[in-house]
This record gives sequence, C-alpha cells and structure tokens, in this order.
Amino acid sequence: MKKHNFYAGPSILSQYTIKNTADAVLNFADTGLSLLEISHRSKEFQAVIDKAAALVKELLNVPEGYHVLFLGGGASLQFCMVPFNLLKTKAAYLDTGTWANKAIKEAKIFGEVDVVASSKDANYTFIPKDYTVPADVDYFHYTTNNTIYGTEIRRDPDVKVPLVADMSSDIFSREIDIRKYDAIYAGAQKNLAPAGVTIVIVKEDALGHVDRPIPTMLDYRTHVSKGSMFNTPPVLPIYSALQTLEYYKQLGGIPELEKRDLAKAKALYNAIDESKMFVGTVTNPEDRSIMNVCFVMRPEYQELEKPFIDFATSRGIVGIKGHRSVGGFRASLYNAMPMESVQVLIDAMKDFEKAN
Ligand SMILES: *Cc1c(COP(=O)(O)O)cnc(C)c1O
Repeated sequence: MKKHNFYAGPSILSQYTIKNTADAVLNFADTGLSLLEISHRSKEFQAVIDKAAALVKELLNVPEGYHVLFLGGGASLQFCMVPFNLLKTKAAYLDTGTWANKAIKEAKIFGEVDVVASSKDANYTFIPKDYTVPADVDYFHYTTNNTIYGTEIRRDPDVKVPLVADMSSDIFSREIDIRKYDAIYAGAQKNLAPAGVTIVIVKEDALGHVDRPIPTMLDYRTHVSKGSMFNTPPVLPIYSALQTLEYYKQLGGIPELEKRDLAKAKALYNAIDESKMFVGTVTNPEDRSIMNVCFVMRPEYQELEKPFIDFATSRGIVGIKGHRSVGGFRASLYNAMPMESVQVLIDAMKDFEKAN
C-alpha cells in the first residue's frame, strides 16, 4: 500500500532525494566507491559541499557578507553556539514553545536573557504579539515555526536589533530578508535531509565581538575559515541536502514551494474547520503553521482518537499522532509532501466522521 508520511521529524523527503542518495551509496559520482567510504577531502565531495552552499545562497537570496555552514550537533547545539558566539551582555528571546525554551536555557549560561513574551500559560497555542524588544540587546532570538504546537511566524519581525532565528522546521517555505539576521539555523531533518547536519547562515560582521574564549569546535569562525571542513562533516546528509536543494530549484524555488505549502495547509485547515468532530488547537488563523497542522477530537468524541489513528493507518497514513504535550493529531506537511497525500488524509477524516 502507498504510504502517506506525516511524521514531524525526521520526516518525508522527496523521491528525488532518496533515490539519488541511494544511488550514491552504491556508486558515488562514478568513482566506483560508495558515498559512505569516500574521503571528505576528495574533489568529488568538495564539489558537493560547494554546490550545496551555493544553492542555499541562491534559493534564499543570501547576500554578500554571510557564510553558509554545514555543522553537526543538530539545532540543539545551536542553542548554545549562538549565545557562545554572539551574546555579549544581554539578549532578548521570544518564548513560543519547547524549542524556544531550550534555547533560552542555554543563553542564560552566557548572559542576561530578557524573555520579552511567552504563550506558555495557554500551552503555546498562539504567538504573542504584544511585546517590545529592548534596544540594548545584542540580538532578538525567535523560533519561526513551533513544530510541536503548530504555530508559526511567517514574517521577519521588525525590531531595531539583529535577529537570530531557529528555522529548523520551516526553512525553504518562505522568502527571508536575510539582512535582518545575524544568524539563522536549521536542523536538516524537517525540510531538507536526513538527520545529522544543520545549516547555519551567519553574518561575517557579527562574529568576533565577544570576550569569552570559545572552544575551537564551537567557534563559528573555525567553520567559516575551513569551509565547514575543520573536521569530518556529515557527508551523507550533506549529499542528500544537495539533492533536495537541486529538486527545490527545479520546481521553481521558494515562491513555488511556498505556493504549494500554502495550498496544502489551506485544504487541511478548511477540512478541520468544517468538521463537527475535529477541531484545530491553534484558533487564530494568522498563527497557524503551514508546516505542522495540530488538531484534536472535540470533547464529545475524545474516545474516538485511537480508532481514528487505526482508521488512518489502514489507509496508509503514517505519523499523525500528536506530540505528547499537545495530544490529538499532528499532520506535518513539509515541502516534500504532495497534495495527494493531504487529500488522502482529508478524505479519511471525512469518511471517519460519516461512519461515526
Ligand atoms: C526538531 C527541532 C529542533 C531540534 O533539532 P535537533 O536537530 O534534534 O537538535 C529544534 N528546533 C526546532 C524548531 C525543531 O523543529
């Protein structure tokens, strides 16, 4: 049976990415060797990482003065690398969920942290808007898409200080005004590649301003000066990332991806809003994530949650169980998710509702 993969991360990848990666595992760039057993210093792999960085720059319109890095350690390592490298005395953070909280916790190790607003009291079901970012902070950190709660900020905030953003789960789904940012980071396993590599886009001028010593591996300047090759980079995920980036470019780049993402999310949210059985957990349409759609059964149907998961499974739908901190269901509609799979989910919801 055809599977429809709604996992939140690691998550669906394009067939182009998976097939080309599988081919390279058997025979990489006609070397007669596997991608798994070649030197990261070989000219063939150097070409891969160079092309991947160039495509990130092209797709996201990264201006001069910024570096694109491919690092290990996941987005979680960036929670500490960002303040290690960029926090002089004080930074502002927006608390929109679990990941934001983890970033805040690490930043506090390095300096004063001003949490300008939080929606914790409402279990992060909305994006706080009524806050001001003090002018004396080194940067303002926010999470563009809250993977667990299904909320998203799809505009680069207008503040007077440089921005830093965790874009792990919605990078490549909208155009970004990179000039507003000192740093952007994104773990690959939501919209790009298998787990193991994190994209970091960092502004040259933002580096070198802190007094503290920084361990070599945690210093962005190390990776900038060595082109992400200070140590052995995650070769396979970087190769896969290149495939996805090529695929994105062939499709028509970010505008086309965004158009498709908006259409998929709209179809599913409409189905939820029209339903008498299902209800969205994020009520303000403006705050709804187009990447992770969270919904639950209305209280009178609560006992049908498990039966619905089983019903969906029987139609090939995988990975819609909600995160334990929200419950219910979460359908992740990353870039590689086709509209046909979203329609299969919508049909399953309608048929299940009719039958019950
Ligand atoms: C998944 C996720 C993370 C954690 O990424 P790791 O690569 O597991 O460290 C951080 N932030 C956001 C927004 C995420 O979705």
